[in-house]
Amino acid sequence: MSTQGFYVRPTTCATEAGIRDKILANPGFGSYFTDHMAHVRWTKNGGWEPGEIVPYGPIMLDPAASVLHYAQEIFEGIKAYRHADGSVWTFRPEKNAERFRRSARRLALPELDDDTFLGSVKALVGQDKAWVPTPKDDTEECSLYIRPFMIASEKFLGVKPAKLVDYYVIASPAGSYFKGDLDAVSIWLSQNYNRAAPGGTGAAKCGGNYASSLVAQQEAEANGCAQVAFLDAVENKWIEELGGMNLFFVYKDGRIVTPELTGTILEGVTRDSILQLAREEGLTPEERRISIDEWRDGVKSGEISEVFACGTAAVITPIAELVTPEERIAGGRQTDIASTLRRKLLDIQYGRAEDRHGWLTQLA
Ligand SMILES: *Cc1c(COP(=O)(O)O)cnc(C)c1O
Repeated sequence: MSTQGFYVRPTTCATEAGIRDKILANPGFGSYFTDHMAHVRWTKNGGWEPGEIVPYGPIMLDPAASVLHYAQEIFEGIKAYRHADGSVWTFRPEKNAERFRRSARRLALPELDDDTFLGSVKALVGQDKAWVPTPKDDTEECSLYIRPFMIASEKFLGVKPAKLVDYYVIASPAGSYFKGDLDAVSIWLSQNYNRAAPGGTGAAKCGGNYASSLVAQQEAEANGCAQVAFLDAVENKWIEELGGMNLFFVYKDGRIVTPELTGTILEGVTRDSILQLAREEGLTPEERRISIDEWRDGVKSGEISEVFACGTAAVITPIAELVTPEERIAGGRQTDIASTLRRKLLDIQYGRAEDRHGWLTQLA
């Protein structure tokens, strides 16, 4: 049996429907996984081998596999949404495929062609379609979170790009990323740690960026914050993004500002989509540098009315305040731009509004 060019080896011990339904009723985020995974192997001499869909389960790695020592790894994050007619769709996967190739180049990993990337997602979701949750109503946010990733598996402790690489896709049913749906979150301003520096890996979606942000995340939690905001590494003055989400600032005159992509910020698909939706809402998007002083003064003067974070996992999350050891800078008055944009985006993703941009791709 084969789909999308992927040979399918079905599991012989699929999760019972009753157990699966229980999981889908309250999946949380990233804790439960579907019955299968996609796998494609690459070797330096032979290139990409034919892909397969295999039972989900632990993978065998040599203890000397270079990913375990030198973190040669990249990943993506996409969601599959069930529409009212039962069909399953995803959002702008070609952007993720392209970003995955860019991340691969930065980490000296082989590029996976876009057709195999999309084919792997389609083949896996086709096989595990029953794991895509069905929203109870038009407000419930639930989906199948899809995680493609690539690792250097070569058994070798020398420091060089691996000659043996494995690409996998796993999938996990997901409810809302943060508990309490549109509750604004407090974020911690990292002053001791930077996420990315010019010439570094900030624009690549790689595990290493996350590993180095965890100590700042610990600091955030110790200070009662849900997430960390990072400043630029050169002047420690310009706001870049959160550990895994991009930032937007809404001005009362209708401007909506997001930090420009300077090579140290991850180019979010949600960020790009919001820039387009904002323009259609009559707002004026600006991509430029924004300093911590502009944030503080803008909120104080009332110029800045809202601050929010965005990404595939958490969609749009309002920021209640930015916390530092010295001060607490408010996230603005919370008008309704963040919630309007969030609704627009979700309505497209869940098939409740017309897909005028051609952003949706059917998976199953
Ligand atoms: C994935 C990610 C984002 C959000 O990107 P989306 O494509 O919108 O999901 C933002 N910042 C970082 C650091 C990320 O890894």
